Amino acid sequence: MVRVESPSSINTYKQCPRKYYYHYIEELPSLPSIHLIRGNIVHSVLEDFFDIDKKIDSEDSLRLHLFWLLEKKWAENNTELSEIGLGDRKLKFYYDESKCMLKNWFNRFKKKLRAQNNNGLTFNQAIKHLTPNREVKFKSEKFQVRGFIDALFENNGNVIILDYKTSKKNELTREYRLQLGIYALMYEEVKGVKPDIVGIDFLKHSELLVPVDDKLVEDAKREVSYIHTKTTSKKKEDYSKKQSPLCKWSTGQCDYFEQCFHR
Ligand code: SF4
Repeated sequence: MVRVESPSSINTYKQCPRKYYYHYIEELPSLPSIHLIRGNIVHSVLEDFFDIDKKIDSEDSLRLHLFWLLEKKWAENNTELSEIGLGDRKLKFYYDESKCMLKNWFNRFKKKLRAQNNNGLTFNQAIKHLTPNREVKFKSEKFQVRGFIDALFENNGNVIILDYKTSKKNELTREYRLQLGIYALMYEEVKGVKPDIVGIDFLKHSELLVPVDDKLVEDAKREVSYIHTKTTSKKKEDYSKKQSPLCKWSTGQCDYFEQCFHR
């Protein structure tokens, strides 16, 4: 029986088969990281943002609601954040940076809101129109792959899938393209039609949208099938080490560096 993969497990295999082995087969824990915790906080803020109280009836109150959510979720993760051992100054840097990303996202959201207002929708109708389905779980039975879609818009027969990223660069890497292709293939299998657009919302920058075509989906199918053929074994020696700058860099190292190099 094949393992059910995810965009993340597939990209881990492509980055380094040994890393895949440690994480998904031996199930060794990952080291806590500011990028992971901060990413989860920001995702969770954007997930809850759309659960809007009726009292919120202006752009200003919406903005306050967004930043209140960030503050609340940051505080809820205080213990985890302080356990990373970064110190207060660096944590404050990451908090401010997260706030900046959300501010940037909100400015773009505001423009969409105003465009809907100009189309004749009221404030509340416009918000409802712009509210996506969030954290939607999809699974392809045929390709044994699953994933959670951050934001799914299905308006008037037009389907858009978005994934939020807190990355520094707004670059559609091969890894991101594959992730989007997997979302498109899962959506097509479950719903019977391809989504129209998939894309990454680079929170620091802007949205990068990709029209869905056969090539995007076929490439994803091929990659998923290939990874299944490479991950049937449970033996460590079948998962080679792929050394790269991602093993160790100036400010950190791969979660499994010690296991690989016994240092
Ligand atoms: S340290 Fe390098 S070789 Fe070892 S698992 Fe991590 S990425 Fe792979």
